[in-house]
Amino acid sequence: MIPVTKSFLPPIEEYTKQVQRAYDNGWLTNRGELVLELEQKLTDHLSLQNSTITCMNNGTIPLQIALKLLGEGGEVITTPFSYVATTSSIVWEGCTPVFVDIAPHHWTIDETLIEAAITEKTTCILATHVFGNPCNVDAIEAIAKKHRLYVIYDAAHAFGVTYKGKSIFEYGDISTCSFHATKLFHTGEGGAVFCKDPELQHRIFYSHNFGHNGPTGFHGLGINGKMSELSAAMGLAVLPYLENILSKRKNLYKLYLELLQDVKATFQQIRPGTYYNYAYFPIVFSTEEKMIKVEEGLRKANIFPRRYFYPSLNKLPYTDHVSCKVSEYISSRILCLPLFHDLSTPEVARISDSIKNLAS
Ligand SMILES: *Cc1c(COP(=O)(O)O)cnc(C)c1O
Repeated sequence: MIPVTKSFLPPIEEYTKQVQRAYDNGWLTNRGELVLELEQKLTDHLSLQNSTITCMNNGTIPLQIALKLLGEGGEVITTPFSYVATTSSIVWEGCTPVFVDIAPHHWTIDETLIEAAITEKTTCILATHVFGNPCNVDAIEAIAKKHRLYVIYDAAHAFGVTYKGKSIFEYGDISTCSFHATKLFHTGEGGAVFCKDPELQHRIFYSHNFGHNGPTGFHGLGINGKMSELSAAMGLAVLPYLENILSKRKNLYKLYLELLQDVKATFQQIRPGTYYNYAYFPIVFSTEEKMIKVEEGLRKANIFPRRYFYPSLNKLPYTDHVSCKVSEYISSRILCLPLFHDLSTPEVARISDSIKNLAS
């Protein structure tokens, strides 16, 4: 069986060595030594210059905190082509998602359509660096400045990506990441938020810890977004392998691209200026029928790609069904092929061969 993805598991002794520290400290959560060390190591690993990282319990709570603080119950301009958490967080926080279609080659929000969607109720732009491909962050920043809007980036897929020489997490007012088990860097469940502005950072920080200001005081409203020491232990054990994970994925990604050249399909264009992380291998077939034929054929061969991202989020039962032609086109024809650290090159060759046969 070849799944679409597989969690990287560090040698168990390296994980237990970290867990032992939590045992020795008798300290399992509330920002203990392991979480603090993980934040420091991630700051170094990502070469963060201006942002502060706060590790959290998943990649969704940071989105919700960001929207709670900046969304003000207004309209949030967003992408229909992402994981459901991007949209559900907007609705969960009492804001209204306003979908702007995606660009046909990069698959990130089409920045040329954003201004037409702005109304007096708009408070934020929430866009996804989809499959790790950066949005047009410069254009979005200019639009946000002009209209006094906040920018939040769902960078759940973008661990390790840099754009124009700096970490992708340093763009936008707030940037979030997921460290879920299926993501490139993981802590089992986990995530993080990145923020440059010290005052906003302060609000994010207390918001993720019930609003506490010391044991008896409160700065304001909060929720529980804390990462546990046990999750941090996994992160500390995974992090040393990241370079290796990345170079393996890069090779497999390039091999797929080379072997699938002749298939009637399109691939995501990565924005120039990007140092990419090879987090996913998406392929868009010429028709939905062809995609389904490929998916069924692969399934019979015990290979399980996934329909990421389907449906287009403007089709969710709790959103307005505005039309987003490009997102709907891509959503209905896309498959993410298996890609993980110990997938072998013969397996990639076998998958590619099957696709060539099925899609012809
Ligand atoms: C995985 C993911 C999330 C949610 O992260 P969790 O850690 O699972 O809560 C949010 N947005 C996108 C785009 C994702 O892929």
